[in-house]
Amino acid sequence: MHDVSAETPTVAGSTVPSSLAPHTTLRLGGPATRLMSAENADELVDLTRAASRSGDPVLLLAGGSNVVIGDAGFAGTAILVRSRGVEVISRRPDQLIVRVQAGHPWDEFVAETVESGWAGVECLSGIPGSSGATPIQNVGAYGQDVSETISSVTVYDRADGVIRDMPAADCDFGYRASVFKHNDRYVVLAVDFRLRPADRSSPVRYAELARTLGVGQGDRVPLAAARETVLALRAGKGMVLDADDRDTWSVGSFFTNPVLDAAAWEHLRAVTAETGEPPGWPGEGGVVKVSAAWLIDRAGFGKGHPGGDAPVSISTKHTLALTNRGSGTTEQLLTLAREIRDGVRDRFGVVLHPEPVLVGCEI
Ligand SMILES: Cc1cc2nc3c(=O)[nH]c(=O)nc-3n(C[C@H](O)[C@H](O)[C@H](O)COP(=O)(O)OP(=O)(O)OC[C@H]3O[C@@H](n4cnc5c(N)ncnc54)[C@H](O)[C@@H]3O)c2cc1C
Repeated sequence: MHDVSAETPTVAGSTVPSSLAPHTTLRLGGPATRLMSAENADELVDLTRAASRSGDPVLLLAGGSNVVIGDAGFAGTAILVRSRGVEVISRRPDQLIVRVQAGHPWDEFVAETVESGWAGVECLSGIPGSSGATPIQNVGAYGQDVSETISSVTVYDRADGVIRDMPAADCDFGYRASVFKHNDRYVVLAVDFRLRPADRSSPVRYAELARTLGVGQGDRVPLAAARETVLALRAGKGMVLDADDRDTWSVGSFFTNPVLDAAAWEHLRAVTAETGEPPGWPGEGGVVKVSAAWLIDRAGFGKGHPGGDAPVSISTKHTLALTNRGSGTTEQLLTLAREIRDGVRDRFGVVLHPEPVLVGCEI
């Protein structure tokens, strides 16, 4: 473990010691009082314990791809999660359990599963960040989410001061949600995935992916084809990190797709009767999940909004991504987010909620 507070940040224009901006994909956020790095699970536990003992607030930061940190920064200890490692811990003819350390880059893990012929996470290719953060918001894309393959999560429980394995059933996984999100009780140390030895993917569920692969929904394809096609689709939407492409200086989707009850869905259908019904996906109990991108676009906030030389804007490739064009501040990003949220509410009566974790700021 080491103190990285004094190390020179790498974001152009930022010279603040221990600035958190270089550690986020938005390149935004002020400094932490103290910035430490944990290279393995033991260090992660030791650092968290030490901070708790001294009453210091703790911010865990891994890939920094799902956090918006206020311009004033974080008054406490920020711990960079840098543990790495992938290990097969059990193997049967029909399944294997693979343990991945929290700081291991997620897409490196996915690439390894595809190369090794382990099916189950191939459609989650290209998602930035760490493996340990995937259970936090039950990461998902292109018809898969991690709750389908996580068998258990090893955590340090800060309330009880113990390390324990939490089976998936105890993780309360939901849409972009889990027991871990907005809850600093648990430090994820490692995640166990239950994968299938196979050279073909899980059934392709996502219509756009199936279309691009030239197969029907529910068909299986070679693992490598699933990965490559997802990566290409994501790149076209600015959803694969590229330091030279400001459309990827984001947190991915800024808002979750709103889940409406039957009455709210009928109201939305009524107010959109003239323009056409928004894309919606029915869920259990009569709820309908509605496309936030559609609502944002139809409320008048198109790709690239507000355009010109604005320091922050909607991505030019994807309506749901709010981006820092290079000289933005967190407050400017949040002002844009408020404008969009309020515009959608006024136009459609639907309130959008942010997907990332907001640290020292709010919308
Ligand atoms: C271009 C882009 C595309 C994206 N696409 C998708 C997508 O398709 N689907 C999707 O679901 N998400 C997507 N995201 C969001 C993001 O990549 C994921 O949520 C990712 O899992 C976050 O990982 P991270 O390591 O960057 O987490 P961080 O941003 O570092 O942290 C996120 C939260 O998790 C907490 N945390 C981090 N590590 C730990 C730990 N070990 N223990 C406890 N808490 C921890 C942090 O304190 C924070 O609250 C995208 C983001 C970007 C920038």
